[in-house]
Amino acid sequence: EAAAKAAAHLADTEPPTIFDKIIDKTIPANIIYEDDEALAFRDIGPQAPVHFLVIPKKRSGLTRLSKATEEHKALLGHLLYVAQLVAMKENLGEGFRVCINDGPNGCQSVYHLHLHVMGGRQLTWPPG
Ligand code: ADP
Repeated sequence: EAAAKAAAHLADTEPPTIFDKIIDKTIPANIIYEDDEALAFRDIGPQAPVHFLVIPKKRSGLTRLSKATEEHKALLGHLLYVAQLVAMKENLGEGFRVCINDGPNGCQSVYHLHLHVMGGRQLTWPPG
């Protein structure tokens, strides 16, 4: 908890993304969970019957997962915890997938760390 708060104060000089507007509520999103550090909202282009994103409210330099440092460890743990908490609230007890796309080869398009959580159907493996 203390470490997550410290991470939230890490410098972040990269350009803002669309997710900042979702966080400050200047553009609408279907928000399904919020706490001091994290926000979860439904993906605008769902790839499964249930598809939501979990993001840190303060990006804290985490434009992408590969920017993580020791100081981000508690925040990263919290985001994963929230992913399953909301998955259970969304009745995904039969299973779901958590995915993070990193960088060009990972097909990342929004440079604000986010966990995709998908479920509500039989998923296949491997992804494309
Ligand atoms: P990709 O676009 O290849 O899935 P990312 O992993 O960066 O790459 O995912 C960004 C996700 O954000 C996409 O699934 C996209 O549908 C979603 N998204 C973009 N803009 C919004 C928005 N305004 N509200 C909700 N979801 C959004």
